[in-house]
Amino acid sequence: MGAAKEIQDFDELRKLRLADEGYIVITGAHAVIHKVNSKCITTENFNTKVSINDRKQGSYFWVDSIATAAHEFGAKRCKLCKPELRLVPPSTFDA
Ligand SMILES: [Zn+2]
Repeated sequence: MGAAKEIQDFDELRKLRLADEGYIVITGAHAVIHKVNSKCITTENFNTKVSINDRKQGSYFWVDSIATAAHEFGAKRCKLCKPELRLVPPSTFDA
């Protein structure tokens, strides 16, 4: 079961980025998944899309995984920030 929720305002966006978990999907003509702390996510763009355009041309969503983003939004991974699955668990480096 994947989780996705719409990001309503700057404060919510800020808290998600501080938590540094999951990914952000920006919807529109094409849905794109970004790293939660990617430089692709700017307050200016968020303000334009969410406040000024009133989400008519897309919105911002937080998702728990790349699989959720693909399943819920058909989102493609951003070519700039390249969100990847963490395939190698940290414990691999313990020995
Ligand atoms: Zn990106």
